[in-house]
Amino acid sequence: SHNRKRSEQLYEDALRHIVGGVNSPSRSFKAVGGGAPVFMERGQGAYFWDADGNRYIDYLAAYGPIILGHAHPHVTDAICRAAANGTLFGTPTEHEIIFARMLKEAVPSMDKVRFVNSGTEAVMSTIRVSRAFTGRNKIIKFAGCYHGHSDLVLVAAGSGPSTLGIPDSAGIPVSIAQEVITVPYNDLNALAAALERWGSETAAVMVEPIVGNFGMVMPEPGFLEGLCRLARDHGALVIYDEVICAFRFHYGAAQTYADAGFPDLGAIEPDLTALGKIIGGGLPIGAYGGRREIMERVAPLGPAYQAGTMAGNPASILAGIACLETLSQPGVYEKLDALAARLAAGLAASAGKHGVPLTINRIGGAFSTHFCDHPIRNYDDAQKADGERFAQFFRLMLDRGICLAPSKYEAWFTTIVHTQEDIDETIDAADRAFAAM
Ligand code: PMP
Repeated sequence: SHNRKRSEQLYEDALRHIVGGVNSPSRSFKAVGGGAPVFMERGQGAYFWDADGNRYIDYLAAYGPIILGHAHPHVTDAICRAAANGTLFGTPTEHEIIFARMLKEAVPSMDKVRFVNSGTEAVMSTIRVSRAFTGRNKIIKFAGCYHGHSDLVLVAAGSGPSTLGIPDSAGIPVSIAQEVITVPYNDLNALAAALERWGSETAAVMVEPIVGNFGMVMPEPGFLEGLCRLARDHGALVIYDEVICAFRFHYGAAQTYADAGFPDLGAIEPDLTALGKIIGGGLPIGAYGGRREIMERVAPLGPAYQAGTMAGNPASILAGIACLETLSQPGVYEKLDALAARLAAGLAASAGKHGVPLTINRIGGAFSTHFCDHPIRNYDDAQKADGERFAQFFRLMLDRGICLAPSKYEAWFTTIVHTQEDIDETIDAADRAFAAM
């Protein structure tokens, strides 16, 4: 098992200066029994090395953006070029146009795009625009979907199948939470009931078309189509939060899922789309876009204000272009899929052999591992999975040099630089972990 003394010292130091020692709560080990998180020092390809010099095979992929692996040369070149030429001008640049055009070609429902700095900002902006466009205030979202940390989307469901929200965080006024209705994912009846009651006040229905935030969960056939039909019947917009999923399963977003081999999911064009993560190649970015008449409500053309000092900065844009160029090469998504298929099959076989109940939901190069024997269709199902078993597995894997996200809800991601040997080493580590459980 690894010696992680230096990480432990750094954690003690960090606790003195940084809240909880981390700059995002998901990085703490709170959900897996606490203690020092691993402090990473350097990444290359499918690996990163911690402050004690231990190597890990990385399936965290920084919660999704690092689909090309660490320090991919094409992205690194782009960032170096940007750094050498000045990192911020406070003026438009040509790169922004090139990138906007690339995104629009891949996500045709976006007539117009705006770049921001994070997925949170992208989502927050789609909500403002949807409210400005419809003149309505309420938002409907799905339990367990995460849409960043802005007030409205940090609201959880109360009890009952569809309720006005209660704040999921201190510091959010109840008056704001009351503008949010949360319903279970994959449940069109609950959505219909919510719209029946609040449809005339609802600005938008916000959804992760494929869920990445309580495990990887597919919409059931007809769910997205039904969602869009119901929303439109009530004059509400449809917002797809594709911060995790766009460019993950194929070169594009949910509206072209047929290209990724999911013909059942329909080809619905959302009114607004929020993007982030992969599209920045590992640098901070978000983007949102949609139908012309909706996006033209945004300042300076329209009355919905949205801005950013760092928005569209050359380093993020050039890294994003380099990342998407790499992802557009033939064979990329087949490789991500094949690696994850091999890994998921190995994990399933090994868990079965050792009598460990494990539900694996895999979609292309992303999958989740819930310690339970029921299927995962919604957040309730995911909550019922065994978190203590996950914590034990997580630590056994970490000690064998395999890095996962420290939460039972998060996905594993394969990258284009993982090898079959990495996968087999991971299966072997998991086999020993399952045996020890
Ligand atoms: N939407 C989704 C679906 C996400 O998964 C996330 C982040 N995990 C966000 C929005 C927020 O993105 P960011 O962390 O870049 O603000």
